[in-house]
Formats: sequence, structure tokens, C-alpha cells
Amino acid sequence: MPQVECEIERIQQGSSYTIKFSLGEPGLVWMLSDDSRVGPYGFSDTSLDLLTVAFCIFHIEKLLHKNLLTNPPKKYTLTVPMYQPEKWRQPQVTQALQQLLTCLDDAEWEFIFKPNDQTLKPKLNIETNADVSIKQIALFSGGMDSTCGVATISSEERKATRYVSYYTRQYTAQNNILKDLGISDPSALTSFYSRCKTVVVENKEKITERKNTNKSFYYRSFLFMSLGAVIADSWQCRHLIQFENGILANAVSPTPAILMTKHAHPILHEYFTQLLSNLYDSTWTLKNPFVFNTKNEIHQFALDVCPKFNDILIKAETCWYHYANHALVGKKNANRPCGICIPCIIRLTADSNYSSICEIDILDKSVQIDAKKGFAFRSYQGFAERINVCKDKNDFYLRVLDSNTRELIASGWSVNYQSLYDVYKRFSNEFIQTFPK
Ligand SMILES: [Zn+2]
Repeated sequence: MPQVECEIERIQQGSSYTIKFSLGEPGLVWMLSDDSRVGPYGFSDTSLDLLTVAFCIFHIEKLLHKNLLTNPPKKYTLTVPMYQPEKWRQPQVTQALQQLLTCLDDAEWEFIFKPNDQTLKPKLNIETNADVSIKQIALFSGGMDSTCGVATISSEERKATRYVSYYTRQYTAQNNILKDLGISDPSALTSFYSRCKTVVVENKEKITERKNTNKSFYYRSFLFMSLGAVIADSWQCRHLIQFENGILANAVSPTPAILMTKHAHPILHEYFTQLLSNLYDSTWTLKNPFVFNTKNEIHQFALDVCPKFNDILIKAETCWYHYANHALVGKKNANRPCGICIPCIIRLTADSNYSSICEIDILDKSVQIDAKKGFAFRSYQGFAERINVCKDKNDFYLRVLDSNTRELIASGWSVNYQSLYDVYKRFSNEFIQTFPK
């Protein structure tokens, strides 16, 4: 079995360790659900290699030591078997991949691509209907933003759109939401899942077997985008869509204590399409139609085209702790949103029905002032109030913008700065109306 190795160097000297697993049983395995089909061109060696890198990084993150705040990884050296190692060693490919990953977690990445001539290629369920022509692939998680996004795709565009998801427990929910939105063909959604067992972790003192324990999600969007890309390529399609509201997509931190992930950031999309364009020798696009819209606005777009949208929306999951029996503050019921994490709070500004299914009522003033339960709420309340008093985009830069976004702008991120300010300004009004003092 081909072996994957990742050496993780941490900030504190002498604390580096190496994660090792095989590609294929009993190590890393990825699969497609039974209903899933891929386009007539199947998966090229380039696509299989992209899946290998993306799934390896996704599972390596789950296997990291837990103390990421006090001793975070500063450099990863990943040795990975590839069908086309020469292609991945090209400086423009390696560089685009490194920039993309560093953008997600500020750590440095080095790659050793070695030949893979052993792994059996997966059997794929190939679409045989020659009349189907696909023009765009939409990433679909079954969350609120992608549910709103799919609702707003016109009936004409739907004929040429396929949907891609990754799932652990959301498979039925994702399928039901698409059905409710009028997409009844089971092959419209291609769903991936994966597992990584029998992992060995070595440090200087000992060798141990490790299970998934780390809960950070810095790198998972690289996997989701890669799944979209390989399905697009199987249709010889070069257009991807990811739906994410502008408040989370642009990732402006409400306070320095909250680190925002750039999981759908326009810069990330730029790096990813550069990577794809170099890998597949053609121009790719990845668009987020909601990059300058609030969650409340995208909800309205969906209601405008689908009057019964709220009956569907209630099935869309948002909470970081949905399946857990604990949240930021201790016990909660599993399979229920917590009501107090960042995505729950942002959703409440857009979806008034949501509070009825949440475990904790953040509209309750005593919850808002609770040290732990109200932490994310108060961070966004202060953020909304600071934005609210801004007179213009320059004021927004001085009073509100976090150092990370300022750095991006300084280093040449060509954002429409007025639109960025406008979307946060509208969000602050929505927040203040949702949670009056
Ligand atoms: Zn939550």
C-alpha cells in the first residue's frame, strides 16, 4: 500500500511529530454514495491526484494535536504518492497549492510528491446519457446559504447544473432539501464520503495509534472545492459556484479574539482557480453570487422565487454543534442547533423561525450577558455597533477592519471596498433590529 507521511513542526521546539497512514484499506478511503454518478469523462489521473491531496489534508487536520492555540503547527511536510508527480512538482502548481493552504491557516506547506503505481483506481458510476450537457457545478452542503443558492438557480440553468456534497451524517438531509427544491433526479447530486483508519503518530518518545480528535476546520473547504472540481472535469466543465453570505465569506473578524476561517474568501477562490488552471491547462472560474449580500438578503432572494421556502429552510443545518451533546457551555441535546455559536447567531439575523428550534434562546438578555453563552453574541453586538457609527468606508477601515483584512488589502487584494463596507453596514442594521437592546 502506498504510504502517506506528514511531518508537523510546531511553534515550540522539539514538539514535532509525524502522522502516517496508507492510501486505501486499512488507511484512507474515499467513496461515492450509491446514487452518485460522474460525468462521461470520468476521473483523470490529475483529478485522482487532486482528490488524494485534498482528502489527505482533510484527514491530517482531524488527527492534529488538540492544543492548537498554544502550540500550533508552523510547518507541514507532506509526502504523498501521486500518479503524476512531475505535474505537481511544477513551480506554478506547487506555489498555487502552498498559497491556498497558507491562506487557510497561516502555516507553511512543503510537498514531496512521489510516484504512485499501486493504488487500484475506483470503479465509478459513469453517466451514459449523451444528451446531458453540464455547464456549472454547485457546491451543496445542505446549509442555509447553499439551500438559498440552489433555490435561486433558474429552471433553465438547472438543466445544466450538477450539485456536489461531502457528507458524514447529512446525506438524507441534503437529498431531501434538493427534492423539496424541485430537483428530484437522484443523480443530480454527487456525494462523497471518506474515512481514515489505522493511523500511526510518531514523536521522539513513542509511536501511538491515533483516532480523529481535532475539531478545527481550517482546511476542509479545500476538500469541498476539490470535489466540485473533479466532478466538473468529469463533464469537461470549468465553472464552479460556492454559495456563502458576504459576512462569513469576507471573514472580517468581529474581535481579535475570534479567528475567522477563510473557507469561501474571494482570495481563496482566486488561488484555487489558479491551481486548477495550472493543473488542467485551461481557465477555470469559481463564483460566489452572494459575496456582497447578507444572510437576510439571500433568504429574501430565495423567498422571492419560492414562496414556501421557509418550510424547506427549517431542514437546513447551520450550527457547529448540531450533532454534539455539548456546546460551548456544557450539555445540550444532540441533533439540535445550540443557538449561541457564530453561525447560529448570524442565521438568527436572517431567519426568525430558527430561534424556535435552538437549544438556547440568545434573545434572552440573561443569556446575552452570560460570560460563556453570550461570548459570540456580544462579539457581534460590539461589531455591529462599531459599524453602525461609521460614516463611510474610510471610517470602516479605521474603526472596524481587522488586521488580517487590512493586510490582504495592502498586499493587493482587489476588493470592491465600497461593496465590502456596504454589506457589513447592512448587516449591522439587521443585527441591531434582530437584537434590540
Ligand atoms: Zn450553534
